[in-house]
Amino acid sequence: MASGAQRREELKAVYEQASGCTKCPQLAATRQTVVFGAGHADAELMFVGEAPGASEDRAGLPFVGRAGKLLDSLLGEISLSREQVFVANVLKCRPPGNRDPHPVEIENCQDYLMRQLELIEPRVVCTLGNFSTKLLRGEPTGITRLHGKPEVRTIGPRTVRLYPLFHPAAALYTPAMLETLRTDFSRLPDLLAEPVPEQPRVVEPADLAEEAEALAAAREATEPPPAPTDRDPRQQLGLFE
Ligand code: URA
Repeated sequence: MASGAQRREELKAVYEQASGCTKCPQLAATRQTVVFGAGHADAELMFVGEAPGASEDRAGLPFVGRAGKLLDSLLGEISLSREQVFVANVLKCRPPGNRDPHPVEIENCQDYLMRQLELIEPRVVCTLGNFSTKLLRGEPTGITRLHGKPEVRTIGPRTVRLYPLFHPAAALYTPAMLETLRTDFSRLPDLLAEPVPEQPRVVEPADLAEEAEALAAAREATEPPPAPTDRDPRQQLGLFE
């Protein structure tokens, strides 16, 4: 298990790598900054949005526009601040004109998010809206059916409590959705108080070698020995018959 200091160093390395990313030619050509994500590197609670908008692209920080202000006030209502959580997005670059992320862009960018989740080690991950919910659940079910329902999910090497929420930008324009988002948010403190879900067994290379040896021994013990062949091997060629 890596120490906090090691994980922070690795997170910085992922940041450096993402900062020069050119995997999506259009996004790399049109962005002003790569919006890696921001907050506490050891946060217990992490939010995953969709992609930076114009304000985020300018500032180099996630959720600084109107949706970000709403996120701040919802956090305030449960006595949390942005400094205590980590906020990231599915895409680290702004799609031009705020269009939806393309599947290939999500694919190109997903390693950065997976590394963030692995290194920050949050116990609760809130997906904001459809894109992050579908990506982290690996299923196409939409946010309308899933919001406010926590699930224990294994994402990469870690098991977390995944908590899908409506995207704050969508809630800005729909009062009923804002009320639902507020209610779902109010359940976060209880979710954070739940025990850390059981983690997958970490398989060390030494364990793997031991397992392979045990399997080979078991196979040897059960497999019948090869039938003895008393024929002259040359007979098999059919040349001497
Ligand atoms: N919407 C997002 O999904 N992410 C941001 O960073 C800002 C708005």
